[in-house]
Amino acid sequence: MKKIITTLLALATVLCMIPALAVSAAAPAITVDGDLSDWEGLHTLSVVGSGEWEGKKVTIYGVLGEDGLYLAADAYHAKYITDKGNWWENTNFEFFIGNGNLQGWVSSKGMSDTNTAPSLSNAENGRAVIESAVMKTESAPAGYHTVVELFVKSENLPAGSVQDNGSIRVGVAWKTVGDINNNGEAAGGGNDEYWVPKLTWPNNNDKAHVTANGIFDRNGEPEPCQHTETEVVGAKDATLEEEGYTGDTKCKACGETVAQGTTIPKLNPPATVEPAPTGDVLNVALAVSVAMLILASVIVSEKRKIHE
Ligand SMILES: [Zn+2]
Repeated sequence: MKKIITTLLALATVLCMIPALAVSAAAPAITVDGDLSDWEGLHTLSVVGSGEWEGKKVTIYGVLGEDGLYLAADAYHAKYITDKGNWWENTNFEFFIGNGNLQGWVSSKGMSDTNTAPSLSNAENGRAVIESAVMKTESAPAGYHTVVELFVKSENLPAGSVQDNGSIRVGVAWKTVGDINNNGEAAGGGNDEYWVPKLTWPNNNDKAHVTANGIFDRNGEPEPCQHTETEVVGAKDATLEEEGYTGDTKCKACGETVAQGTTIPKLNPPATVEPAPTGDVLNVALAVSVAMLILASVIVSEKRKIHE
């Protein structure tokens, strides 16, 4: 048993060491709690007011998870309405799913504070069934800051609305009656109380695409760049004092670093002259030795002559 556990641990360790494959198609796990930090890294769409409408802004989030469709809106708005009789007369986040335009909403109708449940579309009113939703509003310099987060289960999405490419078409709008913003799509780019991201709904065929990677305009999720044209930047020769760098390989089109460079070690200082014995030196030594030997034998023989 212990051996099995050890083997499994070893296997787990090895698996952990395998680097994660580049961008996986798996959507992050979203918790519907009004905290949007778990949406990080997903593509969003925005309407950002300018000029007279500066400070008004809505960022729309969307992701198609394994279990269904998640949407969120993070809005800075000047008006906040909660006391009207119909959901659409109050501050709301509205959406339409698929070709059949299944309508859904989260509305502040009847909310006295963030502890009051928002008014939701549901089966009784024949609209999108929202599994869970949160709407939180607080004061902000330009008026109000509201976060809406919601989840529609897969089985409650219109049949066939999730396409083979893993995308679902969704129209989205932030709205408070009389709270005008510019730079949106609703009135063809003009000013409107419907804050609709550019290049998305209201025309039925122009809805946003929601995938595992976020929400995209009518043009859909761009193909990942193939980095066909690259250049080497930041290359530096090594010197005696400083290390060099081979340079990073960057894509000319998108700027992504395709390959990191490596450091080049500092150059070696010029060698001080202390040559190792060479063949010539050896030959000289040999010649000297031979000469000494001859000289010695001559001396010995001379001495012998003297003694004879
Ligand atoms: Zn590229």
